[in-house]
Amino acid sequence: MREKDRAEKRELARRRASELKAAIGDYLEARALIPDGMACWDEIKKRQEKIKKYFHAGDKEWYDWQWQVRSRIESVETLAELLDLPENKVREIKKVAGTYRYAVSPYFLSLISHGDMTDPIFLQAVPRQEELADSEGVEDPMAEEYTSPAQSVIRRYPDRLVIYVTNQCASYCRHCQRRRYIGKADRTTSRENLREALNYVKENEEIRDVLLTGGDAFMLDDELIDWLLTELDKIGHVEIKRLGTRTLSTLPMRVSDNLCRILEKHWPVYVNTQFNHPLEVTPEVEEACKKLTRAGVALGNQAVLLKGINDNAHVMKKLNHCLLQVMIRPYYIFHAKAVKGTAHFRTSVETGIEIMEKLRGFTSGLAVPTYIINAPGGYGKIPMLPKYLLSLGDDKVIIRTWENRVLEYDNHE
Ligand SMILES: *Cc1c(COP(=O)(O)O)cnc(C)c1O
Repeated sequence: MREKDRAEKRELARRRASELKAAIGDYLEARALIPDGMACWDEIKKRQEKIKKYFHAGDKEWYDWQWQVRSRIESVETLAELLDLPENKVREIKKVAGTYRYAVSPYFLSLISHGDMTDPIFLQAVPRQEELADSEGVEDPMAEEYTSPAQSVIRRYPDRLVIYVTNQCASYCRHCQRRRYIGKADRTTSRENLREALNYVKENEEIRDVLLTGGDAFMLDDELIDWLLTELDKIGHVEIKRLGTRTLSTLPMRVSDNLCRILEKHWPVYVNTQFNHPLEVTPEVEEACKKLTRAGVALGNQAVLLKGINDNAHVMKKLNHCLLQVMIRPYYIFHAKAVKGTAHFRTSVETGIEIMEKLRGFTSGLAVPTYIINAPGGYGKIPMLPKYLLSLGDDKVIIRTWENRVLEYDNHE
């Protein structure tokens, strides 16, 4: 009897297992067609050789992050030559450049496939005429200027705040949500202003979490990062430090041994970065992430939901899987705000919800970030979730599983 029972259970489990196997079939097919930085590494390396030759540079320069920043591509002639751009695209870039600045690190440029105007890195890095056509967006939809109680501080929450340390980035993303800060010139916040921000933290004992961001916190030199973290460590009520940087994706050579030694000294440090497409996850990124995690740094990703780049559950899933393999935990997916000049990247909220729906349950919880809308007026981040709680009664709740099974559940204490 028990023997028969066991066999029956095993048979049911087998049937369920083949159902589960079938539920991932479409993803496995789609995955094979989505390019990623590991699989494309040989092509990327070839393009890096071409770029190095153009700049008369060798590996010594290439792996020097300051050389990469100094050599950021900001001229349309260089872009045209390195990407084989057609004449109409060159004219288009010239037109946009009058209004919006662009700059691409040689490394980030090497990720772009030539001649493909839909390449996800190309779309993030190279100006498009749509930027000028946006008549709806506003410059500061989050009203950051109204949430700054002290110089270079943005405070939207009870126990944590942002210190804005620079307006510099290794590359200027076309979808940048803080475009208004990206002027013609690079500016690092002065020591005097940083001291004022640190004083604000010191005087407000409820602040236990400080985020250094910009711009890009890793655009500061090592000494300044060390100084800021040292000052924060002196403040007893600051429990954790976070740094916001996109260099893991746009300039992985920024993660030098010296920087890692500094970060290790100031444990616990969290680094939040931004990867938007699997193509950005390369062997160089893996190396940088290994170094950071060995230094005890926890890594998180804040992707932006971008039309034509990652507004698709398969791409997002693959991105998150690639990130987990280099120890970056997907943390947020941001809904693209109505920032002037970025309308062509915006998706509907339904698109984001649908992606979340296709992640939860279908893949590791670790690969499921929180989808966020930033409230207008600077009122903070709001999680957008598919509906799993269908009704909440005193005795019973009605819940929905990731596979869309609707179940009743007792609601007794
Ligand atoms: C995003 C943000 C934070 C951090 O929010 P978490 O949800 O804790 O990651 C803090 N302050 C400001 C102003 C922010 O925009």
